[in-house]
Amino acid sequence: MSAPTVTDLRAYVLRGGGADYHDQDGPHWIDDHIATPMARYPGYRESRQSFGLNVLGTLVVVAEASDGSSGFAVTTGGEPAAWIVEKHLSRFVLGAAVTDLSRIWDQMYSSTLFYGRKGLVLNAISGVDLALWDLLGHVRAEPVYAMIGGAVRDEQPCYATGARPDLAVELGFLGGKLPLHHGPAEGADGFTANLRLLAEMRATMGPDAWLAYDCWMSLDVDYAIRLAHAAAEHGLRWIEEPVPPDDYWGHAAIRKALPPGMLLATGEHEATRWGFRLLAEMGCADILQPDVGWCGGLTELLRISTLADAHGLLVVPHGSSVYSYHFAFAQHNSPFSEFLMMAPAADRVVPMFHPQLLGEPVPEHGRLRIGQLDAPGFGVTLNPDLALARPYRRG
Ligand SMILES: [Mg+2]
Repeated sequence: MSAPTVTDLRAYVLRGGGADYHDQDGPHWIDDHIATPMARYPGYRESRQSFGLNVLGTLVVVAEASDGSSGFAVTTGGEPAAWIVEKHLSRFVLGAAVTDLSRIWDQMYSSTLFYGRKGLVLNAISGVDLALWDLLGHVRAEPVYAMIGGAVRDEQPCYATGARPDLAVELGFLGGKLPLHHGPAEGADGFTANLRLLAEMRATMGPDAWLAYDCWMSLDVDYAIRLAHAAAEHGLRWIEEPVPPDDYWGHAAIRKALPPGMLLATGEHEATRWGFRLLAEMGCADILQPDVGWCGGLTELLRISTLADAHGLLVVPHGSSVYSYHFAFAQHNSPFSEFLMMAPAADRVVPMFHPQLLGEPVPEHGRLRIGQLDAPGFGVTLNPDLALARPYRRG
């Protein structure tokens, strides 16, 4: 049997929310004085956009096949990732059988080792890989979750990330993950303010709902351990990404010193099986959180997940909407999912990648149902009203 071949691969860029969910206009909880490693510089403390968190924008990769099928994916990476896709990666894709995902991934990764391995290049590789999975799903008229082994559960419970874990509980979520607002540079006052908000949330949510802290790489080992112990009385379920991703030793030290029952989660800024091998073997985490749009795409996420399972670790992907949902439904060690509350006040459920995807499923009463994913590929279409720009052309 000969499979259709890939006849075209194009990279576009987009501004304004969506896959680059930090690229928001106007007041939004996601840019409201969140603790970051840049907070040691007071001028960059108030807003993450002030130091360029939204500088990249969304990357859209579109792939077409000889049978007339097409697929696409969105991730971050913007113009520089579009250049990498068009000028470098496209050579490994054009003319390939639509089934050649492993060979294409290995060639994209191996050929970019001299300037890649993590970050932007892996954003670009992820975008191509996800577009090819979507294309294969359209060629086969199958949802992605079915192509990777099928669903292991009918419903997927979700927790909500955002400024209002209390409202998330009312909306039916398992609980909420709160962004930490103050880091070590804001001293004892900041430490106290962090705990005051946590206590308020716990008081409103009741004793049983999940409550976690997302520290976005902002702490040091000492601060993280003190914060975790002070937060234990408020039932903190996990502390997330307490130190920068290159500090594997710091993650391991913090995890060892956590109060009984509290978990460490990390990995959204990590990439490939080799990065996650370090996290697993060094005892850095209890929950691994690869972002399928950043870690190397679905092809690599499946390898990361197998490695994690052998270490007894959960894999709960970071954000990523449908790209995560198809994966999570098919993995026994991914028993719940993250949902990013992208309403500016985190007070209602809106599609995570709005306005870029049409047909994007959202949790109802905090749960996704497998029937919401029953469409070819990742089951979404690219909004035709978007102002797509194609800044580079291959060749
Ligand atoms: Mg996070």
